Amino acid sequence: MTRRRRPDGSPRADSLAALIRDEPARLAAACTACGACVHACPMTPGLPSVAEADAGSVVRGVLDLLAGGAGSPEALAWLGACTRSGLCSQACPEQVDMATIMRLTGMRLRGALGDGDPAAPPTPPRLPPRRHDPNWSARVKAFARLTMTEEEQARWL
Ligand code: SF4
Repeated sequence: MTRRRRPDGSPRADSLAALIRDEPARLAAACTACGACVHACPMTPGLPSVAEADAGSVVRGVLDLLAGGAGSPEALAWLGACTRSGLCSQACPEQVDMATIMRLTGMRLRGALGDGDPAAPPTPPRLPPRRHDPNWSARVKAFARLTMTEEEQARWL
């Protein structure tokens, strides 16, 4: 069987377990922290802490969280507001799938990756449940921006 490959020629993971195990280091190594993904994100304009931060450091914070680090408040804000538009991945000049990074990191912070030590005490999730999401309104508007003309946005948002 031929293994599927990414645009950069590297092999794709064969399973979710392999993706969780292998992807963080590969994606972190490919990222140059240029910040293009943050600038392309439709949520960024609605998140002052992210919009005013250095975009590269926001991404580095996300990668740190994915690796199990403390990240940064801006990285947590960006993650919590992600609408899975996928525009971050499209914007990346290095073909890094930032949308996958965001998804894996969000899963890790919600304790949903299932790759921790089963004997370790559970750690509380570090992202709020979606029903308590303080960025809910901004997320709805971001979805709307993706479907409306500029005239409609000016009128309704
Ligand atoms: S656009 Fe790509 S290379 Fe630039 S910060 Fe985002 S993931 Fe990293």
